Parts: sequence; structure tokens; C-alpha cells
Amino acid sequence: MQTTFSLAQLADPHVAEAEKILRKCVHCGFCTATCPTYVTLGNELDSPRGRIYLIKDMLENGRPADEEIVTHIDRCLSCLACMTTCPSGVHYMHLVDHARAHIQQTYRRPLIDRAIRALLAQVLPYPARFRAALKLASFGRPFAPLFARVKGLRPLAAMLAMAPRSVPAASPVSKPATHAATAQRRGRVALLTGCAQSVLDPAINEATVRLLTRLGVEVVVPQGEGCCGALVHHMGREEAALTAARNNVDAWTREVERGGLDAIVITASGCGTTIKDYGFMLRLDPAYAGKAARVSALAKDVTEYLASIQLPEPALEPGLAVAYHSACSMQHGQKITRQPKDLLKRAGFDVREPKEGHLCCGSAGTYNILQPEIAGKLRSRKVANIEATGAPLVATGNIGCMTQIGGGTRLPVVHTVELLDWAYGGPRPEGVGAVP
Ligand code: SF4
Ligand code: SF4
Repeated sequence: MQTTFSLAQLADPHVAEAEKILRKCVHCGFCTATCPTYVTLGNELDSPRGRIYLIKDMLENGRPADEEIVTHIDRCLSCLACMTTCPSGVHYMHLVDHARAHIQQTYRRPLIDRAIRALLAQVLPYPARFRAALKLASFGRPFAPLFARVKGLRPLAAMLAMAPRSVPAASPVSKPATHAATAQRRGRVALLTGCAQSVLDPAINEATVRLLTRLGVEVVVPQGEGCCGALVHHMGREEAALTAARNNVDAWTREVERGGLDAIVITASGCGTTIKDYGFMLRLDPAYAGKAARVSALAKDVTEYLASIQLPEPALEPGLAVAYHSACSMQHGQKITRQPKDLLKRAGFDVREPKEGHLCCGSAGTYNILQPEIAGKLRSRKVANIEATGAPLVATGNIGCMTQIGGGTRLPVVHTVELLDWAYGGPRPEGVGAVP
């Protein structure tokens, strides 16, 4: 695609990067067929190609964002299916990230929208605040139908509907500690315990620590690590995202210097996609660029790490059929497609792949709160495809998908690592006992 940026515009490294990406697009439109919002809404402006044109026009003309572009960029899930499909290697993720930051800097959203976004940014990344908010949600739940009738308040209704009725107790595994290997030691990793995940489903980190230590891997939960920054990053809050990234780069670099790390293990693929991008996000910061690139290179999804070490024979072969849902951040963001399925098969599960596996379930960070109508349609489509497999159980590798899919089906939805822990000698995951 031809571009007409001036030399002065290109002096801004963010614009120069956007221009490089834009020039790769050849307008072929292959990406439209796999874009969940285009498939759902049928509007070219809600397709990757349409959004690329809108972003190009805004940046080339040095314009502030307007309502039209905000509408169509807000509807983008950042699922990155378009990047998997694109034959020209267009890095849509970096382009839309830049567009979101530009929107945040140049567009004044309506008051309610601003308030809801500020609330999400101030609560979700902080486990103590998030836990308190979930407890408060039980008082607000009766008002959800009322909020759902007012367009601007629908995100509040979505939040209340999604809040679990009981919040699991905080897990000791989320606290900084070193968990020693219980078999002959063969590795040392840091574990990102995460923010929302550690509150919503602490069993995921507990299963990870049990499984890895049993396999001879020392697991460190480093002092000072926090939210990866993905939630605020996807809202265009660049400074907050970079602060979160720097904080984690410091925490993990200290750990590398203290005892060495073979990997930084991540159990939420949404976080993994962002941490693997820290090197890019902090490339312009001379104090952090090198350290961030090293951290990104060490970041591994838990299934990626498990696939890289020799596993023993499973302790039991559950023989259960499992519908495996590949999160967008897993398959499109990190291009991890084979390892989770191979590990589950090796552990004795009958892995079934739902149709339209490339389409997002509608979770996408805070998308199911901020765009509840589109997210609801995508969830119904995803659940229908999952249930059509006939499997009595769903496995996936991202807490957002677990919450989203779990809200639309009666099937138990568990994390892949919980099934692996079970097969290799751990306890049966909660809920799986109900499988016929
Ligand atoms: S990231 Fe997903 S929703 Fe956004 S344009 Fe690409 S395919 Fe469409
Ligand atoms: S598939 Fe790639 S090159 Fe073709 S329109 Fe989409 S982004 Fe552009």
C-alpha cells in the first residue's frame, strides 16, 4: 500500500513503525474471511482491511481520532486472526496498538465510557482490589437488568453478570516464594501468577506448581512481579502498560541474576502474548530495551515449556474426550497450536477440535465487558461448535476464555495444565468429577 507520510511525521518512531506495517498491506482482503467482527457484522469497516484504511487515513492526516474510527477500532477484538491469515506479513497487532494509544491521547470519550474504562484499569490488574470488587458485585447484581437497558451502562451489566457468585479463597501459591523440585532437579523457572486469574481461579497456578515441581523443576514466584499490562495496553493506556512491563522486567531480571532461569512460565496466553512483546514495547527505552528483549525470549506458555522437557509416562490415562479451545492469544498471538493438543493426547485424552477454531470466543481481555453484544454472539457461536464435538469437558489455556465459554455452557471448562497435572499424578480438577 502506498503511503504519503511527510519526513517530519516519519521522524516519530511510532509513526515510522506504523508506516512500515501499512506499506506491507496489499489490500487483498484475505483477512476479512477470518475476522470475527467482519463475519458477525458484515461491514468492511469492521474488517482488518477496513480498519487498516481508517488508521492510515488518521495517521497520514495527523488527525485526532474521531467517533467513526473509535467505533470500529473499539469493535476489534485484537484476536489477531488476521495476522495468521495475512499472506503479506502485516503486523496488525503493532498497528492497532499504536492506533489505540493515539485514540487514548486524542479522543475524549463520553463520561460514562471514560469512567468504566478508568474503573477497569484501576481494579482488574490489582488482585486485592479485584477480589474486593467481586465481593461487592453481589450487591450490584440485582441492578444488572436495569443497567442492561441503558446503552452506556451495558458494560456494568456485563461485568455484574460475569462476576462469579463465590470468590475462591486466596491461594498461598500466588505469594512470592520458591517451590523446590520434588524429583531430581532439572530446571528452574519463574511463574507469572497473574492478576485476574489468581483471583478467579487459583487452582491453575496450584496445578502448575504441583506438576512442574513433581517433574523436577524449581518454580519461583518472584518478589515484585505484577500484572503483565495487557489489560491497560489493549485500552491504549500506553504509559500504564509500559510501567507494568518495566516492573516485571526488573523482577524477572533480578531472578535471572540471583539463580538463573530456564523460562518465565505463563499460564494465561493473553499475558504470554504481551510479555513476548515486551522487547518491542520497550525498544525505545535505552535503560530497558536489552533487558526486555531477554525477558521476552525467556517467556513461555506452560504448554510450550512442558513440551520442551522430557515427560515420564502419565500416572493414569483418564481416557476422557476433551474439546480443546485454542485461545486467540495462543494460536494467533503466540502461534502455539500443536503443543497443548499433543500434551493432552500423550496424557491419554481424546482431544476433539471444534469447528471454526480460528474464531474468537468474544472474551478478548475486557472486550466482553466493553462490547457485550458482539461478545455474546461470538460466545454462542463458539459454544455451539464446542458442544457439537460431543466432548463432556472443555480445556483451554486462557482464563478469559474459561470465564467467557463457561458463562455459556454447562460443560466444565478447565485449564489444560489442570488436566495434565491430573494425568501426571495430581488431583482431579474440580468440576471434572461431574463428567458422566
Ligand atoms: S484482530 Fe481480530 S477482530 Fe481485529 S481486525 Fe484482526 S481479525 Fe478482526
Ligand atoms: S490479508 Fe494482509 S495484505 Fe491482505 S488486506 Fe489483509 S492485512 Fe492487507
